[in-house]
Amino acid sequence: MTAGAPDVLIVGAGAVGAACAWELSRGGLRVSMVEEDVVGSGATAAGMGHLVALDGSEHEFALSRFSQGLWAELLPQMPREVEHLQCGTLWVAADDEEMSEVRRKHGYYGAHGVSSEMLDAKQLAAAEPELRVGLAGGLVVPGDSVIYAPAAAQWLVERSGAAVIRGRVERLNGRTAWLGDGTRLEAGIVVNATGARAAKLTAGVPVTPRKGHLAITDRYPGFLRHQLIELGYMKSAHAGGGESVAFNAQPRKTGQVLLGSSRQHGVEDAGVDRMILSRMMKRAVEYLPGIGELQVIRCWTGCRAATPDGAPLIGPWPGEDGLWLATGHEGLGITTAPGTGRLLADLILGRTPCLPAGPYLPARLCHG
Ligand SMILES: Cc1cc2nc3c(=O)[nH]c(=O)nc-3n(C[C@H](O)[C@H](O)[C@H](O)COP(=O)(O)OP(=O)(O)OC[C@H]3O[C@@H](n4cnc5c(N)ncnc54)[C@H](O)[C@@H]3O)c2cc1C
Repeated sequence: MTAGAPDVLIVGAGAVGAACAWELSRGGLRVSMVEEDVVGSGATAAGMGHLVALDGSEHEFALSRFSQGLWAELLPQMPREVEHLQCGTLWVAADDEEMSEVRRKHGYYGAHGVSSEMLDAKQLAAAEPELRVGLAGGLVVPGDSVIYAPAAAQWLVERSGAAVIRGRVERLNGRTAWLGDGTRLEAGIVVNATGARAAKLTAGVPVTPRKGHLAITDRYPGFLRHQLIELGYMKSAHAGGGESVAFNAQPRKTGQVLLGSSRQHGVEDAGVDRMILSRMMKRAVEYLPGIGELQVIRCWTGCRAATPDGAPLIGPWPGEDGLWLATGHEGLGITTAPGTGRLLADLILGRTPCLPAGPYLPARLCHG
């Protein structure tokens, strides 16, 4: 390694790369980053910024809940631009079947130390007056919140002191990254944190793009009070392939309403698909009839990094000495970025891992 080379070179300065830089620097390592765009671009700029404890699996809950604890330490230090809004999540149940999911979720959260409150139809209407009449009830999780993730990523990178090199990495191994202009960057280890593009740089990484659409309205302060999600969302988020839309509406600190969300597996093209967008908007109107009266000012797309088992890839990449991965966070990488950074730093520095690492290690998906 050349004298003066950093201990760690992180490729990709989205939320995950930024959180890794923060934790590795705090662990005493010299960190550099390479980013082809601006810090906090990629899926980090596209996504909803909902910090949510999800219980789709034990490992999903463990990483998201642990990360929420880290966000609680970080957010008070972050600037206003991070737009932290402690709005909570309201999971909306359309019928009795979904009410049984409300009860299950309430039980699960209660058993794992997350406070939540079940609402009947009347309480739901009082909690969120713009929802249509006739819904069965819901579950409020007051500890969840919303941020503007690019600003958080920017703060993490700045405070980490990591040098950010602007450029596109064309090729990398465990010690070196080569930029498009021929520049060669060396480091003790290299972390591939390029989100949905990770497999383009490291052949065989089991990450595929899962495209999502979003739309944002003009400012209507008070229209929504909570992040609203239909209970069918988890089913759609964890569905293997094809296309799906689910109702997901978020109040922003600006008074805007951010609407999601769709999933298209294996689609990389960034263009807005009018059919998908109109299905998504129709779904939103089914839950929030008044949303149709609001002015939508922008629509865009982003790519989640999906893995075959739904868990991220955090740890060494088998077969390439010195190469580590921090990718594969699908629709939860803003929430789970701080826990990812901490776990990666624990593993690199040989500390006791903050969480059992097994469910997140890339080696779990490498056979033979
Ligand atoms: C529609 C949608 C909604 C979402 N909503 C939420 C939500 O509410 N809550 C939540 O927790 N998560 C959400 N997510 C998921 C979240 O946005 C991602 O999991 C997270 O942003 C992943 O961060 P990352 O740093 O791994 O990847 P990215 O943010 O994509 O960052 C990767 C970076 O690598 C850079 N890069 C790529 N290739 C190269 C290269 N060759 N050379 C140099 N740089 C390169 C890119 O420019 C980019 O800046 C959502 C995602 C989408 C798409």
